[in-house]
Amino acid sequence: MKIKLLALIMLVAGLNAFAQTKTRNVVMISVDGYRWQEIFRGADSALFFNKKYHHQDSAALAGKFWDKTASARRSKLMPFFWNTIASKGQLYGNRDLGNLVNVRNKYWFSYPGRSETLCGFYDEKINSNDYPNNPNENVLEFFNKQKGMEGKVVTFASWDALSRILNRDRNKMLVNIPGERVTAGKLTDAQVLANELQGYLPHYFGTSVRFDAHTYALAKAYVLANHPRVLHIDFSDTDEFGHHGEYDSFLDGAHYVDAMTASLWNTMQNDPFYKDNTTFIIYPDHGRGTGDKWTSHGTSAPGSNETWMAIIGPDTPATGEMKNKSQIYQDQFAQSVAQLMGLKFTANHPVGEAVKSVFK
Ligand SMILES: [Zn+2]
Repeated sequence: MKIKLLALIMLVAGLNAFAQTKTRNVVMISVDGYRWQEIFRGADSALFFNKKYHHQDSAALAGKFWDKTASARRSKLMPFFWNTIASKGQLYGNRDLGNLVNVRNKYWFSYPGRSETLCGFYDEKINSNDYPNNPNENVLEFFNKQKGMEGKVVTFASWDALSRILNRDRNKMLVNIPGERVTAGKLTDAQVLANELQGYLPHYFGTSVRFDAHTYALAKAYVLANHPRVLHIDFSDTDEFGHHGEYDSFLDGAHYVDAMTASLWNTMQNDPFYKDNTTFIIYPDHGRGTGDKWTSHGTSAPGSNETWMAIIGPDTPATGEMKNKSQIYQDQFAQSVAQLMGLKFTANHPVGEAVKSVFK
């Protein structure tokens, strides 16, 4: 009898332990086609010193991003990652140490990659960036159905395909894409300005994308005005500059993503609503090739199924750069985020298991 009672107590305690996470808010940030090589090794000498991939002043660029050692280079490129996340959070994907992150899908490009991450599921049918509305339910709409979170799950994207990847026609969530203004609620001055500014730059990469600075301005202004529980930002400058073969601007894009993430993290940590109860998770949708194939990705560019993940928040041990030999996949991030929020993500498809090491 006593043993049964003890077992029952342990069972109940175990269930509670699952629900007793500190995370109440989540920020998910996607960095399109940004490689693990730059995260862990900094600027790549084979590309950095190749004039073919330069458009900016070389000396100024070298001062910004070059140094002799990989560890000095990576800190120059991504100071928030290597000062703050590396000391208070976790960085996965340094393949030089055998710590592996990969996409599970066999396509290695954008719509399939994001769908895998956001749905926690690799669907073989999702095989094109022109794929129509995603039939698979995603973790954002799962959050949006939870009591107290309705209407508090928002996306700001630099690429217009996010409206289809997240199927906003089905779930009616706010998914702000290039060319769209934020209209929800009474707008603050910052929101009005962010809305206006996105109309004042040339469509350097076409009309389906906008520069990340605009996406960021809209997102941050929305956070300050409305305090969403789940913020999802989808950045794309890195991939666009990569396809253009501009390695200098590709590095700038990554450096600014690091800076925008830092600014958002610091702003939210200074806000009682978010302080010490918010987890950030950052990852790409795919990698890129190496050498002259760095400009591309997909199955024609070997290695572009190799990715990375960074995470920081109150439930995640401060183990920094993960140095153990292990393998995780993009389809595990959705369940990880759900469980950090004390929930179990279920959908109209199977869902990848959470990454156990992100929990204390
Ligand atoms: Zn992509």
